[in-house]
Order: sequence, then C-alpha cells, then structure tokens
Amino acid sequence: MEILISGAGIAGLCVALALKQRGHTVHIYERAKPHSSVGAGISLWPNAIKALDQLGVGGVVRSSGTSNLSGGIFSATGRLLIAEDTAANDARYGAPTVIIHRAVLSDILLNALSQQPQYNTTVTDYTQDSNGVTVYLSNNTTVHGDLLIGADGIHSAIRQVWFPHITPRYAGYTAWRGVCYFDHNRVGTRWGEWLGAGQRFGITPLKNDAIYWYATQNQPANQFIAINDRQAHLLHLFADWGVQVPAILAATASAAIMQHDIYDLPALPYWIDNRVALLGDAAHAMTPNLGQGGCQAIEDAVVLAKAVTTFNDVPAGLQTYQLARKSYVEAIVTKSRQIGAVFGINNRWGSAMRNLLLRHLPPKMSQQQLHPILAHEV
Ligand SMILES: Cc1cc2nc3c(=O)[nH]c(=O)nc-3n(C[C@H](O)[C@H](O)[C@H](O)COP(=O)(O)OP(=O)(O)OC[C@H]3O[C@@H](n4cnc5c(N)ncnc54)[C@H](O)[C@@H]3O)c2cc1C
Repeated sequence: MEILISGAGIAGLCVALALKQRGHTVHIYERAKPHSSVGAGISLWPNAIKALDQLGVGGVVRSSGTSNLSGGIFSATGRLLIAEDTAANDARYGAPTVIIHRAVLSDILLNALSQQPQYNTTVTDYTQDSNGVTVYLSNNTTVHGDLLIGADGIHSAIRQVWFPHITPRYAGYTAWRGVCYFDHNRVGTRWGEWLGAGQRFGITPLKNDAIYWYATQNQPANQFIAINDRQAHLLHLFADWGVQVPAILAATASAAIMQHDIYDLPALPYWIDNRVALLGDAAHAMTPNLGQGGCQAIEDAVVLAKAVTTFNDVPAGLQTYQLARKSYVEAIVTKSRQIGAVFGINNRWGSAMRNLLLRHLPPKMSQQQLHPILAHEV
C-alpha cells in the first residue's frame, strides 16, 4: 500500500516505521523544518518500550536513555510522600521506564526508517473515494495514496475539518521545560515530582549528567513569560523549594526554557473516516500527568499498522484500529486530567491535605492506578 502521513512527531515516525516494516510504502509530510525537536526529555514507560521493541528500536532506546530512577513524589519542602523505584518496572512489566531526550528519540526513529520526511510541507486538505485518498500539499502539489494518517498533533488540521466545534480544553496550568547539565550525585535518590500548592516540579535524569526538568504553575491561559525572563521568573516562583530545584533552574539558561500551556482533547465522535485515520495527539491529546501521551501514540502506531496489514483492506483495518484503541485511550485521557486536578490543588490547606493522604496511601493503591496501563501489550 501507498500510505501518506501528515506529521513527523513521535506518532508519525512510529507509524511510518511500523508500516514500512510490514512492506508498505510511506510518505511523510512535515510542516516544520528538519531538526526542530524540542529541547526536552520524555518518559517512556514499559508499555511504550515493549511497543518500541516491536518496532525493533527498543534496545537502542534503552541504551540511549536512563532508567532505574529512585525517588518518588515529594512535598515542596522535600518530604517523601510516595516512594517509587522504577528499577522494579523491568521485572514487573518486562521492560524498564526510560527517560530520553526527545531529539535523540527522533533521531533513533529516523535512522530506523532510513527515509526522511518531506519537511517544510503542510498537508492542507484531502479528498477520498472508494479507490484512494488525494492529499493537497502547501507546495501546490497533490499526492495519491491508499490511506492518509493524520499524525499532526493537538491542533490537527484533519481533525478540525471533521469536528470544527471540538477544541482542545485548557487544563488550568502552564508548563515550563528545560534540559541542563547537573551532577546526578547531587540529586541522589530524589528523582521524581515535587508538589506544592498550584505548582509542581519534576526532575529526571538524562544521559551524560544532563537533567530534564519540568515545572507547572496554575494560571489563566496565554500568560507567557518572555524567553529571557523565564529563569528569573521560575527562580522566584520556586525560591523556597529545597536545594535542588533552585540549583537546577540556576543551571539552565533562560533561552533554553520552553513554556507551553497544557491542553487535552475531549473524546471525539470517531477517529477514522473510511481511508483516513487520526493517530497520537491528533486523536487523543492528554495532559502530561501520567507521562503517557507519547507512549499511547507509539501503541497506536503498532496497532494501526498491524490492523491494516492483517486485513489488507484499509477501511476494515481502520475499524479494528479504532475498536482496539479509542475507548481504551480515552479512559487514560480522563485519568490523566483527574490526577492533574489532585496534584495541582491550588490552596495551601488543600495541598497539605493531599500530601497527608498521599503519605498514608498504601503502596499497592498508588501502583494500582498505573498497573493496567504499564502492563498493556499491543
Ligand atoms: C509538558 C509535557 C510533558 C510531556 N511528557 C510526556 C512524557 O513524559 N511521556 C509521554 O509519553 N508523553 C509526554 N507528553 C506528551 C507527548 O509529548 C505527546 O503526546 C507526543 O509528543 C505527541 O506526539 P504526536 O506525534 O502525536 O504529536 P506532535 O509531537 O505534536 O507532532 C505533530 C507533528 O505534525 C506536524 N504538523 C502539524 N500540522 C501539520 C500539517 N497540517 N501538515 C504537516 N505536518 C503537520 C507538526 O509540526 C509536528 O511535528 C508530554 C507533553 C507535554 C506538553
């Protein structure tokens, strides 16, 4: 089959790889220029690593990232609320949790594909009939294929044509992310997430003594801090958060700090229309609270490629893909939003109560939240 893919993010590259490995010809169109991957890390949980194993890149992802993170969830003052050691995941789920730089992940997927996306090319429209799909590109050319995959992210143009009235929902907080060099021994066994009142800070290790961190703050949408002021702004916001948090911020150049408001998508009426399918954030953008948005996109890719290949019939294969994925992933979107509401409690009293509850939560109960997602195999 000739398969057209809009978007070369995690979803687009993974589905291209999964389809190419099954003998299909793929064409990837990417609006951005090459090497525009964001300077941040990503956590890939065991469910995603097992899906990446099926794509043949699980080994190189493992060796290019870090795993075995000791720490957990802490209060803003550094008190341990829930202990977590991801070293146990390998034994429990058959794969580790890997933290990897996004640019490194993207390079691994591109190398495995041994094919470049067509960059600086936006998919502007499409038409379809029973024989195939015609896609219109921003360079005024048209291309034809058997299947169009909209892996074009949370603002998916294809989804907006289907559902112009459905828009992403603001989650009530903004997120800053950065990567810096910082001696890992200074963090020791205190990796993970720190919770305050309406503020959170996450610290994860990358290779070569680099650190990927994120910070969130509850606030109205669209209040962006000028890039050169971000470090000072965050140093002020997180000034009294123990020793590591301000030190990590101080080690990050302001110009290297990204800010994005956090949105997710309400459940869509459908993800497929005959020969066109949505995949990844285009179908189910979620808040980052479970670290599953990218992981679920990787799972989608494997399921979609298997389904269209097994049926050798695009509409039937896409029906199977939707059946396997839609309600399953939408439940994760809901769970992620709920966790965000609890972890992001705004007032001091509420957040103190939350911390007390978390501290007394039996370890089994906190694991139960994640267990079915991490154990999932596609
Ligand atoms: C703060 C934060 C932290 C996160 N942490 C994690 C984590 O730890 N673990 C995890 O699994 N997930 C995490 N996520 C979620 C994860 O980043 C996303 O779910 C994932 O990147 C989605 O990939 P995607 O390919 O579907 O979309 P995108 O990465 O948005 O890629 C879409 C691509 O399509 C291109 N495009 C858009 N429109 C067009 C068009 N019309 N034509 C051609 N190209 C187009 C875009 O340029 C882009 O390259 C996090 C998200 C945020 C915001």
